[in-house]
Amino acid sequence: MRRVLASVAFVACAIVFAQSPARDQTPAPTITLTRLDCGTWAAPTDVGQRFSDTYAYNGLMVQLVFTCYLIRHGDDYLLWDTGNPVGTAATSPKTSLVDLLAQLKLTPAQIKYVAISHYHGDHIGQVSSFPQSTLLIGKGDWDVITAPNGNGVTNPAAFANWISGGGKVEPLPGDRDVFGDGTVVMLNMPGHTPGHHSLLVKLKEMGNVLITGDLAHFHENYDTNGVPTFNTDRAASLASLDRFKKMAANLHATVLIQHDARDIGKLPAFPAAAK
Ligand SMILES: [Zn+2]
Repeated sequence: MRRVLASVAFVACAIVFAQSPARDQTPAPTITLTRLDCGTWAAPTDVGQRFSDTYAYNGLMVQLVFTCYLIRHGDDYLLWDTGNPVGTAATSPKTSLVDLLAQLKLTPAQIKYVAISHYHGDHIGQVSSFPQSTLLIGKGDWDVITAPNGNGVTNPAAFANWISGGGKVEPLPGDRDVFGDGTVVMLNMPGHTPGHHSLLVKLKEMGNVLITGDLAHFHENYDTNGVPTFNTDRAASLASLDRFKKMAANLHATVLIQHDARDIGKLPAFPAAAK
C-alpha cells in the first residue's frame, strides 16, 4: 500500500514538474526605452511667467526641451508623444521622428501604438506621420479634439486620419495597461488637460520609470506642486500630482520630466536605449 501511495505521489509530482517548465517557456518580452528629441531648444525660459498660478518661481530661468520616447515591448513598439511639428518654426525639430526611427531601422508602420499624453501642440506635432498606428489618448482630450468647435488650444487637423475613421483610436477614460502584462501603463492624470495621461514603464535593468507628460514641466514645479496658469483644472492637477508622487515612492521609480533638460541624462543618449 505504501508503495502504491508512493508511486501515486511520484506520478503527481511528475505531472506538476512536467507542467511547470511549460509555463515558463514563453520568455518575458524585451522592454526598452529610448529618448527621442522632439523639438529644438529655445533659450532658457522665465518659468514664473506662465508656470505658476501662485506667483512662484519669479525670475527662475529653466532650460525647457521637447522629448518623445520610444518603448519597445517584444516585437511591438509604442511611441509616447510626437513633439513639435516639423517645419520652419524656431522650436521645430531638426530631425523628424520618422528620420530618427529610420536610424533605429524602424518604419512608421512598425509603430503599433502612438500614445499621446495630451492635446497640446508640442506633443501632437508629428502624430499624422503614424496613420497606421492605433491612437491611444485620454477620453477627456479626445472629446475636446472632436468637439464641433474645439477649444482653440488644440489642432484637430493633426488627428484627421483618426477622426475620419481612417485609423483606429482608443479614447481612454482611465488607466490602460497597454500590453496586458503591467509593463507599460498609461496613467490617468487629468488636470493639465481634461484627459492628460502619464506613463509607467517597467524595465528589467533600470527598474520602474514614470514619465510625466506635462503633469509637471520642470523639477521645481514637480517638487512644490506648482500648477501652471493654463491648466484646465487646478484641483485635478493637485490630485494627479499626489497620485503620481505616491506611485513614484511605492515603485521606487525614476521620474522623467519630459520638458526638463536636467532629466535628459537619466537615459542613455540616442540611439541607445535603457533596458
Ligand atoms: Zn502641455
